[in-house]
Amino acid sequence: SQGPVPDTGVTTIALANQKGGVAKTTSVASIGAALAELGQRVLLVDLDPQACLTFSLGVDPDTVERSIHDVLTGSAEIADVVVTCEEGVDLVPSAIDLAGAEAMLLPRPGREYVLRSALEGVDPAYDVVLLDCSPSLGVLTLNALTAADALIIPMPCEMLSHRGVGQLLDTVADVQKILNRDLEVWGILPTLFDGRSNHAREVLADVGERYDLPVLEPPIPKTVRFAEAPAVGRSILSTARSSKGAQAYRDVATSLLARL
Ligand code: ADP
Ligand code: MG
Repeated sequence: SQGPVPDTGVTTIALANQKGGVAKTTSVASIGAALAELGQRVLLVDLDPQACLTFSLGVDPDTVERSIHDVLTGSAEIADVVVTCEEGVDLVPSAIDLAGAEAMLLPRPGREYVLRSALEGVDPAYDVVLLDCSPSLGVLTLNALTAADALIIPMPCEMLSHRGVGQLLDTVADVQKILNRDLEVWGILPTLFDGRSNHAREVLADVGERYDLPVLEPPIPKTVRFAEAPAVGRSILSTARSSKGAQAYRDVATSLLARL
């Protein structure tokens, strides 16, 4: 079906950027935990074969029984694979076999719509679904953009990080034309922000105008606390409750809540 994404009351937000290391996964885990703190029912979907989100939420991708891969092959429904995590969020885990999903999907008609169809059957009690994309613009990311109501582009405040954003926005324009007319770009989420750096402040001031996109606030500060969180299977929201990074993600989540 190529109609609008049905209004189930669940808002699906993709976090995508084909560059790795821009804090997509960290942002999905942290915004998800922050929305859960605000009383929202949150489902996170790990669409990266590297399964960093799955691992960072304390689920071992090597032993997980069923994953997003089974959903995309049609052998399971989302509800069959959901794992409940400690921070009040549910997770559709990834596993290494997801790497084969791209090749499996490629020859299939309607391959970009598989995730969207699966999410149509998701429990309507969820308020928000966050999609953690892999660092590519392949068929998995196209599935995310086709299933989403909104896109957030995490981007570090460094000049070199801009490379590729134009290509991502071209892909988004194609998706809006052909696959998902209703996809809204909610904006750039500035990440890894070092407020002491003039360069970072200049990039932050310029990036919205350069791409004619909203810039979500506040920027997420660069802090070592983020490095510690995934190792214990918790996001920074609980490992460093009152850190500036955790607070920044709470503020972003509060402003997103107003749009859900
Ligand atoms: P992506 O999913 O885009 O590849 P990640 O979320 O995995 O990016 O983040 C890449 C690395 O940067 C990880 O090691 C993560 O812990 C670290 N990181 C993310 N956000 C911050 C931050 N605000 N401050 C410091 N390190 C961060
Ligand atoms: Mg990631």
